[in-house]
Amino acid sequence: MGETKMVTTDAAKLKLRIKRKAFSLGIHMLGVAPVERWAQDPHQTPDFWPQNIWPWSRNVIVMGMQLFPSMIETTPSVVYSELYNTTNQLLDHTAYRIASFLNEEGYRAHFFPRDCYGDISALVKRPEAAFSHVLAALYAGLGTVGMNHTLLTKKYGSRIRWVSVITDAELPPDKLVKTELCIRCQACVRVCPMQAFTPIEGQIVAKMDKHKCALCHQNLKKEFHYPCGRCIAACPIGEDKKRYRGKAITPEGILHCQDFGAADAGQVKPKALSHTS
Ligand code: SF4
Ligand code: SF4
Repeated sequence: MGETKMVTTDAAKLKLRIKRKAFSLGIHMLGVAPVERWAQDPHQTPDFWPQNIWPWSRNVIVMGMQLFPSMIETTPSVVYSELYNTTNQLLDHTAYRIASFLNEEGYRAHFFPRDCYGDISALVKRPEAAFSHVLAALYAGLGTVGMNHTLLTKKYGSRIRWVSVITDAELPPDKLVKTELCIRCQACVRVCPMQAFTPIEGQIVAKMDKHKCALCHQNLKKEFHYPCGRCIAACPIGEDKKRYRGKAITPEGILHCQDFGAADAGQVKPKALSHTS
């Protein structure tokens, strides 16, 4: 697949303008998926496919923003929780602007907000969202799905969140990533407090008990530590972690960040940091 579809120069120019605009608004990765890819490699029932919800849709522009590894390593914590919320807001705002830009250019366009399940209590009852940005990012050639059910990317590993703009604009599609990025190290499996993953022999993507995962999130929300994200933090794929050369945060620093909001807050006193003792 990939760049097999003939595209006009105008389409290529429009994609470039979208990219420039998105990157100037803080987006880190962007790819374009033709809606036909949902049917060519189906991972969900047709009621989830964009072309069956909005028949005019032609392409999905998927945009990602990184989660800083030095913050997500504190998870579950208020620090990661705030990062998660901020990233979500930025993504939605950016997607709104890109859709609006396309409207002004004369195209049909809108965005599918990130989570789309309402509240965590709804996710416990039905652990799925109205739209999978992970699948959209896969179809947009931004990475491959790892054992932990997230999209792995070369640059940011699992530590990137996605939003999607749906449009009828003609745009050059991005090539799919052919080489699997997941190395099956099972770090995500080991770190999960709910044992939600069961690796399957001969397959990359593990069986996942999404209900168990949702229950974990529900408990963390009471402590303002939602979401969990341990399986994302633990994944060794990505150039983002290399920047810290294995020292993104101290163990005492993790305890410090986890203390705030916790049910037993103030009771676990982090040991003095070596450079301050
Ligand atoms: S988010 Fe947490 S509970 Fe859910 S699968 Fe990942 S590690 Fe397990
Ligand atoms: S932690 Fe290891 S097994 Fe899990 S998704 Fe990342 S590379 Fe794959």
